[in-house]
Amino acid sequence: MDKVKKEQGKRFLVVANWKMNKTIREAEKYIEELKPLIADLKVPIWIAVPYTAIHTCREKFPATIAIGAQNMNDASSGAFTGEVAGVMLKEAGADFVLLGHSERRQYFHETDEFINKKILRALEVPLKPLLCVGEGFEERETKRTKEVLETQLKTCLKGVTKEQMENLLIAYEPIWAIGTGKAATPERVKETHADIRTILEDMFDQTTAFRTPILYGGSVSASTTEELASTEGVDGFLVGTASLDPQSFAKIAALSENVL
Ligand code: PEP
Repeated sequence: MDKVKKEQGKRFLVVANWKMNKTIREAEKYIEELKPLIADLKVPIWIAVPYTAIHTCREKFPATIAIGAQNMNDASSGAFTGEVAGVMLKEAGADFVLLGHSERRQYFHETDEFINKKILRALEVPLKPLLCVGEGFEERETKRTKEVLETQLKTCLKGVTKEQMENLLIAYEPIWAIGTGKAATPERVKETHADIRTILEDMFDQTTAFRTPILYGGSVSASTTEELASTEGVDGFLVGTASLDPQSFAKIAALSENVL
């Protein structure tokens, strides 16, 4: 593990999740504001946008910024009215796709089994899946976090090979921290990311566990960035609310750069 760590050095990635925000016109305005603020940054930036803004974002953002979707269907095509297939996202300009976000689990009843099908499809397209996992408040209080994460990871990643894991990322997003303004403490994040790595090691091997980027998400803001970014085992952020404003998102990206 240490050898791999040395070879790889510190990596960090900042991902925005716009959720169901920004029309095409609003996206264009955001891009114009954000571009000069991040022009000199080295930290990789990925942006997950609504389906309708993918094409515009791909055309107007520099090629160094990856554009992603926030969901996709598990089928390759067919009679699924209102759904969007991975190949469609790819052609529209997406490089990655958020899968298993807790809002989709909660409001659209997505199960780990369904998320697993989407992950396998995304990898086939190929789109990089950014799998979100995390425990609820009750689960945290009853000390079942590791058990919950183990079930989510084992089911969502069923059938994924070690080679495919090179194109997959994980975001640890405790549900109680999402959109609440209360980020998890660095101690809890460190401990949970280590647990996720142990689970991945058990499922795959030590190298795969280390190489898989594990991001933290849940009320990341400029004021929590430095502490969380330098927390052991944190390879990046998934930022919701604070990514909606180009100034605050750029600030998070700029502060994150200090850990590189
Ligand atoms: C998210 O939606 O993935 C998220 C982390 O949201 P927030 O930053 O608002 O907590």
